[in-house]
Amino acid sequence: MKAVYLDETGLSVRDDLESPTLQSDEVLVEVLKAGICETDLQLVKGYMGFQGILGHEFVGIAKTGPYTGKRVVGEINCHCRQCVYCKSGLGNHCPDRTVLGILNHDGAFAELIAVPQVNLHTIPDSLSDDHATFVEPVAAAYRLQEQLALSGDETIVVLGDGRLGNLCAQVLKLAGCEQLLVVGKHPEKLAVLRELGVQTVTLKQVEKKNQADIVVDCTGSPTGLPLALELVKPCGTVIMKTTVAGEHQLSMAPLVIDEVTLIGSRCGPFEPAIAALAEEKVIVEPLIGGRYPLEEAPLAMVKAASPGTFKILLEP
Ligand SMILES: [Zn+2]
Ligand SMILES: [Zn+2]
Repeated sequence: MKAVYLDETGLSVRDDLESPTLQSDEVLVEVLKAGICETDLQLVKGYMGFQGILGHEFVGIAKTGPYTGKRVVGEINCHCRQCVYCKSGLGNHCPDRTVLGILNHDGAFAELIAVPQVNLHTIPDSLSDDHATFVEPVAAAYRLQEQLALSGDETIVVLGDGRLGNLCAQVLKLAGCEQLLVVGKHPEKLAVLRELGVQTVTLKQVEKKNQADIVVDCTGSPTGLPLALELVKPCGTVIMKTTVAGEHQLSMAPLVIDEVTLIGSRCGPFEPAIAALAEEKVIVEPLIGGRYPLEEAPLAMVKAASPGTFKILLEP
């Protein structure tokens, strides 16, 4: 089988890998398309120390199990379904979990992937393969709606104009948040957001005052959190949406003095993400920056990391 493999020597495209061995609860999925995410770029830099097949944003066709022949997307956390976390609905925090393409489980930059059947969601015909690769990151954006009791009256700043910043802004707007501002570095990416009706400013223009009720850090950079703490109001909330391979070096005193609530935020619900994409309430077509065959994954990763690019898709 052909796949994009990460080990201590770096990233390589291999065609000598065995097809996945299925666990009893798993289904074999033929990958149609997969998206390259900031997390993949961080994994290549050493985040999590992952070794194996990369990729966790995908759409495919189920080859075994009750969904055989159907197009599916998959939640990425594979839990034990027996521990106290799993039994209380917090399976994403199962201490024994594996995570597709991130933690002890091969991912989707491959011809085939093994996914627990319970993780799969069938998708409607109206949702194209290209757009379906966005279900996982849109679900991650919907996690904001689960974590914040939004009234719509909050002033919200999203830091980062990339893939996740864009999707978080769109999902917050769908939740009725009109006082929404995205801060970014890339004029062409900010222009895409303005087309979608979201206010934007460049990083240079931002007024570093305590002005926002909520700041969402989607920068994927250690510089995001210090800026978020400058922008948030006293007693406001900062949500950290991206992980970075590097260490944060910042003074925690502003958190204490301003009594800021700091919330980590990771994976979210698939059903509203599938519906929003199928109904084109979340617009992702302008975010597709290119499509590459699996063989050209190293080049695609470079392209995905370049400042002007949104989402790059791989096509096994
Ligand atoms: Zn991702
Ligand atoms: Zn568990």
